[in-house]
Formats: sequence, C-alpha cells, structure tokens
Amino acid sequence: MRYYSTSNPQHTATLEQAVTTGLAPDGGLYLPEDLPRLPKAFLHNMSQMTMQEMAYAIAAYALKGDVPTDVLHDIVFDALDFEIPLVKTAKGNYILELFHGPTMAFKDVGTRFMARLLKYYRMRHPEWRTLNVLVPTSGDTGSAVANSFWKMPGVNVYVLYPRGAVGVIQRSQFASLGGNVTAIEVNGSFDDCKTLVERAFMDEDLNYNMRLTSAMSINYARIIPQMFYYFWAYAQLVKQQVKTDNLVFAVPCSNLGNLASGLLAQQMGLPVKRFVSVENQNNIFYNYVKTGVFTPKPTQYSIAPALDAGCPNNFERVLGLMGNHKNICRNIHAYSYNDTQIIETIKQAYRDDNYLLDPHSAVAYRALQEDLQPGEIGVTLATAHPAKLKTLMERIIDEPVPLPDKLKKFVNGEMHIVKMPNGFTAFKRLLLEGHLAIPAQSFA
Ligand SMILES: *Cc1c(COP(=O)(O)O)cnc(C)c1O
Repeated sequence: MRYYSTSNPQHTATLEQAVTTGLAPDGGLYLPEDLPRLPKAFLHNMSQMTMQEMAYAIAAYALKGDVPTDVLHDIVFDALDFEIPLVKTAKGNYILELFHGPTMAFKDVGTRFMARLLKYYRMRHPEWRTLNVLVPTSGDTGSAVANSFWKMPGVNVYVLYPRGAVGVIQRSQFASLGGNVTAIEVNGSFDDCKTLVERAFMDEDLNYNMRLTSAMSINYARIIPQMFYYFWAYAQLVKQQVKTDNLVFAVPCSNLGNLASGLLAQQMGLPVKRFVSVENQNNIFYNYVKTGVFTPKPTQYSIAPALDAGCPNNFERVLGLMGNHKNICRNIHAYSYNDTQIIETIKQAYRDDNYLLDPHSAVAYRALQEDLQPGEIGVTLATAHPAKLKTLMERIIDEPVPLPDKLKKFVNGEMHIVKMPNGFTAFKRLLLEGHLAIPAQSFA
C-alpha cells in the first residue's frame, strides 16, 4: 500500500520509506491511501482472542502484506508482551490502563513496535550506516524510546531534556541506561530541546555525516500499534456483554498521536460514537475546535508534563483523516483543564471512585464526567502509572504511593548524563564527535 503526504497527496511513499524517514520530504505526515475496513465477523470474534492475536490480525489487515506475516507476527507479539487491563471502578467507570509496559507509560507500545520494525528494515539493508535517533522529551517519550532501542545494534539514541523540568523517576528511566543511549541535559526549555532536534534534521552537514531518524509520533510506525488499544477496549466490553452501541473514548492529548490512532481504528470499522480530546493548559487543539483556527504557542509547564505541547505534531494527520473542521467538531469534543482542576479530579476520583489517577489520565476522566450522555459507555484512556510522578502524587493525596518494581530498577541505577548549553553548535559537535568521545558525567 502507498502512503501519501498530508502536505501534498501527490507525493506517496512505501511503508518502508514512510517509517525510515518519519516526515515526508515536503514536511507532511504520512497517511495510508486505502485503509481496509475490517469484516464485521472479525470485530465480533475479537472478544475471543488474546490481545496479541487480535493486534496481529489488525496489523496484518492494516499493513496489507507490506511486512511478511511471520515477521509481523513476531514484532507484534514481542512489542505487546504485557497486559492492558480494562478496569471497572467502584462507581462503574471504565478505565483502560495503558501503562503496564516497561516504562509504565502508554508510549511503550508505539515505540517498541517502531523499534522492532526498524530493526527488520535494518537487517534487510546491511549497507545502512548507524541510525541516530534524536528525541526531545518532557519525560515519557524519552524513556519509552530509549528503552525500546536500548542495546539494539547499529542504533544510537540521543535524548534531550530540559534541565530541572523532568521528574527524577522519569529522568532515571533514560539516564540510567548507558550503552547506546545518551541523555543530554540542555540548559534551556522543552521548546529549546525540540528546536535543537529540528535544526539537526535540517542541517546538511550533519545529515551528510550521520543518518538521523525521528522517533516522534510523526512516524506512522508509532501510530499503527496505538490502534490496538481502542479495539482491545471494545473487545473486552463485548466479552463482558456491555452494550457498545454508544462508545465514547476520552484521550489525554498532547501531540495528538493517540487520537489519530483512534480515528484510524474508527475508519477501519471500529464502532466509536465519538472521541473526547483532553488537553491541559496547553490547549492548542481545544482552541482549534472552538474557533477553527490552529495557533501554536510556546509550551507552558504543567503537572502533567507529557501533555505540554505548544504545537501538536499530529494536527495535520487529524485534519487529514477527518477532512475539515466541521467533521472534526462532529466526531471530537474538546476539553482543556488547568493544574488546579487536575489536582481536584485526582482527589475526587481517589475519594469517591477509589481509583488513583495520574495527572495525565485525570484530564480524560474529568472530561468524560462532563461530556457523557445517558446511555453512553465511556472509556478513559489512562496513559501513565501514578508512581511515575510519585512526589507530586503523594503531595496531592497525602498518602504514600509505592514504587512498582519496574520503576525501582531505574531509580537505583547509576545515571549517565551529558550537560550541554542551549546552542546548536554544541549539539552538533556532540553528535559529530560521538558521545563516547565526551566523558559522561556521573550524576548523584
Ligand atoms: C505522550 C503522552 C500523552 C499524549 O499522547 P499524544 O499521542 O502525544 O497526544 C498522554 N499521556 C502520557 C502519559 C504521555 O506520555
């Protein structure tokens, strides 16, 4: 199947080209030309399948033979080797916990799928030079990408994060790895980190000397596997004999990648009545839905750092899939909450519904309370484990929040961090000289 660029539908690429380059040459995002609709019988039978079986079948339909079936089978089974429970809370709310992967945030599925697919393409092209993956992060993306590519031969990962703005646990999840993962602390903001990476992709000299790749959700390889969540939630509801005619998903949004995946699932035939997109105070998409005008702004820091995006990367994909503003308004209800409202919601859900939400999941939970109509079934996508922001969570609920073993492992490791001023010359030199030439500073 061909993939077209949202900037120019005349430009198309193969799956391999789309996944290995990330962005189209004209700056657009790739979308499938002709996504198949799943047979009704398949949708019904999903409730009898394991998550891995279901995900593999959907991936095989969606990719239409572009990846050999045995390879695709291994990629999916390997990327999804953990549970995604659909929890029914004390008050009867449905919460899909997407955070049981290795770094305990929902990006694990997308980045693991992408890493394994790139590994396959690399094996087919022994002539390729080392892949250098550059990721700016406010916490979750860096750790998910770094862990997915850790120890993978022929790949180096550079994680750029803003000094003082990433939690200790989140930082440990990429800074404790070492090996092919370099953690770079930038003396600047998250937007500065993003700008450094964007400049690197445009720098001729760097691109001549090194093969650079983005692992951001602009890459279609991260969008495909996120569709599985939506199908899985539906299949679990069917299995529990819940009426699924009026299914509504609430999605915590930042770069809109997860929402784009939901829209693709819907186009493949998943019966979703509507989506609820929920942002924090970085409410760029909310403003677009209300006004029809898309206006990026500088990123504001919040207590839900993974939602801090001032320019949602996947906006063009959402618009491309829906066609226009009117269709978007019909299919997506938008909400936005500030820190005070997030804290209120965490306290309220813990007290009244006996469920501990992390700040990212809390926005979605709250929006469903406002948006859901009688007779509708709402599913909150919970995107991160509350212990990832342990100190903050303990201050909010005034109780200890124990650290799961998966997170303890990172925190107890030794940190390898390279400190860098906020300047492109320094970043370029660091990349060109190779991180091994620069002694990594140990960090207490
Ligand atoms: C990345 C992330 C989001 C936002 O997902 P997008 O696909 O960028 O919209 C929400 N919650 C958590 C915990 C995340 O890490």
